Amino acid sequence: AAVIHWFKCDLRAYDNTALHLAAERARESDIPLICIYIVSPQDFQAHLTSPARVDFILRSLEILKKDLAALDIPLYIKTVAKRKEIPDQILELAEEWGASHIYANIEYEVDELRREALLTRKAAEKGIAFNAVPDTCVVEPGKLSAKTSGNQYAAYSPWYRAWMAYIHEHPEALELYAPPAKNPRSAREKFRYIFELEIPDAPDDKLLSDEEGRRLRSLWPAGEHEARKMLGGFIEKRIGEYETRRNIPSVNGTSMLSVHFAAGTLSARTAIKRARDMNGGCRLDTGSEGIRVWISEVAWRDFYKHVLAHWPYTCMNKPFKIEYTNIKWEYNDEHFAAWCEGRTGYPIIDAAMRQLANTAYMHNRCRMIVASFLAKDLLLDWRLGERFFMEHLIDGDFASNNGGWGFSSSSGVDPQPYFRIFNPLLQSEKFDPEGEYIRKWIPELREVKGMAIHDPCGRLEREVFEALGYPKPVVEHKFARDRALARYKEGLGRS
Ligand code: FAD
Repeated sequence: AAVIHWFKCDLRAYDNTALHLAAERARESDIPLICIYIVSPQDFQAHLTSPARVDFILRSLEILKKDLAALDIPLYIKTVAKRKEIPDQILELAEEWGASHIYANIEYEVDELRREALLTRKAAEKGIAFNAVPDTCVVEPGKLSAKTSGNQYAAYSPWYRAWMAYIHEHPEALELYAPPAKNPRSAREKFRYIFELEIPDAPDDKLLSDEEGRRLRSLWPAGEHEARKMLGGFIEKRIGEYETRRNIPSVNGTSMLSVHFAAGTLSARTAIKRARDMNGGCRLDTGSEGIRVWISEVAWRDFYKHVLAHWPYTCMNKPFKIEYTNIKWEYNDEHFAAWCEGRTGYPIIDAAMRQLANTAYMHNRCRMIVASFLAKDLLLDWRLGERFFMEHLIDGDFASNNGGWGFSSSSGVDPQPYFRIFNPLLQSEKFDPEGEYIRKWIPELREVKGMAIHDPCGRLEREVFEALGYPKPVVEHKFARDRALARYKEGLGRS
C-alpha cells in the first residue's frame, strides 16, 4: 500500500497543501508516500513552455528529489509521450504500488481541469481516490463574489477588497503546511530503483544551447531553498522601497520571484504571510506602503487565476471582452519580427525585448509598454505577443500572461481603456529618465548622451544617427495612435 502525491506546478516540499495531505494520510496508515512528476513533451509544446522554463523545472526537480530522498520519500519522474495517456499512466503506477489515494493541487487551465476530471472518474472505477485540492491561490477561486449580485468580480479593486477581507476573516488562509515527515524506513529499500533514477533531459525541442544554459542557470538558481532565500532577502532589505522603485526597470526594485511562483518553488501564501508579518500586524491594509503595495501585486496573480477559473473561455484564445474579437488587426510580418527581435527603432521597446531574449525575463513596466506597442502602435493581434512571451519567459504563467496582454490590449478583464495608448517616448523618459536601462540592453546606443537616448532618430543629426547602426522607428507614433483609435472604435462599433 502507498499514497501518491502528483507534483505539477508545485515543486516544493514546504507549504504544499496536497503534499501535506498525502503525507498525513500515509503517516496515519503507516504506509509510504511516493511522489511522481510527469514530464510531458506534448504539454510543453501545447502550452508553449519556454526552454528556459523547462530547464528551471528540471533543475528544481533535481533539488526536490534530493530533499525528498533525505526523508526516504521517492520521487518518480516519468516521461509520457502522449499527453492523453497521462491519467492511465498514473493509475498504472498507483496499481503497481498498491496506492489507494492520489493527491494533487488543482490547476485551473482548461486542459488540466479536464484531465483531472478524467483521472477522478477513471480512478474511481478502480477504487482509487483522486483528491485534487486548492493550493496555488491564497484565496481559492469561488470564495469571493460580489455581495449584492453574487456575481464573480470582473474588476480588480472590489475583488481585492473582498480578497483582503476574506483573509482577515479566515486567518487560516495564511497557515503554512510543514514539509512531509520521514517515510517508514522500509521505503528506502523497497523503492531503491526510484531513488536511483536520473532526472530526464529536456525534450529535444526545448533544449537550451550550452551558452544559454550557463547564462540562464547563473541568473536563475532553481529550487525552493533559493526561493525562500530570495524572499527573505527581498522582505528584509528591499520591500520597504518597493513602491518607489518598482516602476524603474534599471534598478533592482522588484522581488524577481515570479519564476518561483510559476514553478511552485514558492507558495503565494508563504510570500504574503512573510510580508504581512514584516508589517508587524495581522492586517494586509495597514503599515508600510512598500509592503502593502507588494502584497497587492502578489494578489494580482490570484486575481488572474480567479478570472481563468470563472471564465474558462479565456483559455481558448478568446478575449475576455468578446466584443474585441472584431478588431481588424494588421498582418505585418516585418513589424512583428522587428518587435520580437528588438529592432523597432524605439529604444525602450528594443531594450525590453532584448532583456527578454537575454534573460528570459522582462520588467513589468516594460511588459506593459511593449504589449501596448504591439497591440496599438503596430496594431498586431495581441495573441501573437502573448504567444511570444510564453515561448520566451522563464516565469511564463498562462493566467498572468493572458491577464497582462488583456490589460494592455484593452480586451481583457479590467483593462486599460482602449483609447489609452502609451506613448513609448514619454514612457521611456518617465521610467528610464537617464536611459540606463536602454544603454544596458542596446550596445549601439551606449555612447548616446542626454535625451537623444529615448529618440535617437528624431533627436540626433542625420549622419550621427546613421553612424549608430540602429534602426529608424518602424511606425510613427502619432500616425499609429490615430490608426489604432479608429480601428478599435470601428471594431467595437463606436462612432
Ligand atoms: P514583483 O513586482 O516583485 O511582484 C511580486 C509578484 O506578484 C510577482 O512575482 C507576480 O507573481 C505577482 N505579480 C506582480 N504583478 C503582476 C501582474 N501584473 N499580474 C499578475 N501577477 C503579478 N507574470 C508572470 O508571473 N508570468 C507571466 O507570464 C506574466 N506575463 C505578463 C505579461 C504582460 C503583458 C504583463 C503586462 C505582465 C505579465 N506578468 C506576468 C506580470 C508581471 O509583469 C510579472 O509578474 C513581474 O514582472 C514579475 O517580476 P517580480 O517577480 O519581480 O514582480
